[in-house]
Amino acid sequence: MKFPIFKTKTKGVTKKFNLADPKERAAYFQSKAGLEIAKLRKYLRRNTFIAYFLGKKNSGKGTYTKMLAEILAPEKISHFSIGDMIREVDEELRNKKRKRELYSFLERNYRGWLPFKRVFSALEKRSTKTLLPSELILALVKREIFRRKKKTLFIDGFPRDLDQVSYSLFFRDLIGYREDLDIFVLIDVPESVIDERIKWRRVCPRCQTSRNFKLLPTSKIDYDRRKKEFYLVCDNPSCPAYLSGRQGVRMIAKEGDELGIAPIKERLKLDEKLIRQAFSLYGIPKIFLRNSLPVKIAKKFVDDYEITPEYNYQWDKEENEVRIIEKPWIIRDDEGVPSYSLLAAPVTVSLIKQMADVLEL
Ligand SMILES: [Zn+2]
Repeated sequence: MKFPIFKTKTKGVTKKFNLADPKERAAYFQSKAGLEIAKLRKYLRRNTFIAYFLGKKNSGKGTYTKMLAEILAPEKISHFSIGDMIREVDEELRNKKRKRELYSFLERNYRGWLPFKRVFSALEKRSTKTLLPSELILALVKREIFRRKKKTLFIDGFPRDLDQVSYSLFFRDLIGYREDLDIFVLIDVPESVIDERIKWRRVCPRCQTSRNFKLLPTSKIDYDRRKKEFYLVCDNPSCPAYLSGRQGVRMIAKEGDELGIAPIKERLKLDEKLIRQAFSLYGIPKIFLRNSLPVKIAKKFVDDYEITPEYNYQWDKEENEVRIIEKPWIIRDDEGVPSYSLLAAPVTVSLIKQMADVLEL
């Protein structure tokens, strides 16, 4: 399963963009894919489609879908993730009234091999590791779609199990999108990238903003002289700590994150199988998003600023401040080839261009 390398280096575009800055990022998208963006926006005024985003856990599905929706037409697109949907169901279960509503919806809409009462009690008692029966997921997804009127759908996390791949083939008809196109968007990210994303993840204990110590720091890094360690300071302007005037909430690692991908190996294996199965499907157009590319040939395909850098820190005693050292981040892909990992924006450019292509615009 080899994903093609997409060229985002564009003739005539020589300006360097700071992709961390929302304004510059918008200008970047315009100069690299302006034509396709205009075509897609026009298309979305009258048409809808369904896109299934399939990638391993932590492969950036949510990031790409949100970025694309923002660029195209947030009001025309509904993005939802099966993970979020299930978390919402968990909340409904904790509230008496909402739980009754959920029960009666599912009682009317669930169809499957297991008796409904048993399925519902499995839902109540489930642990985060157990997968819910596909028939139940389908009923929940249907509810989600009817809540959103008729919009273009970006679905992230469905199909989630092997039997759901065949459901997804007829899903468009099931939910009344018969005339619309459905597209599979497959994402390929080396496991080493996922591993480091988890290992270096830091979260604000007050507002839950998530960043990465090594790959996506905040604008403020501080140094704890006693413990001799650097740490990120939350810079989310709507963080309660920030708003109350107290500066400097230290972002922390979540328990277990230091283990990286070790605890989710099984999930990643299943995700890989899902991608492989979708990869070999006939009759449904596919888009391939590739996160990494070999260091050796990178210069031909992408610009320097499109590559994910890694950050290191040094304490400058004389200036009494943290010095930030930035350099290209080199990882090994799943075949062991020294590679760069792309930032989300260039991957989204390839998504926009392939989408315009698939829709024949
Ligand atoms: Zn915060």
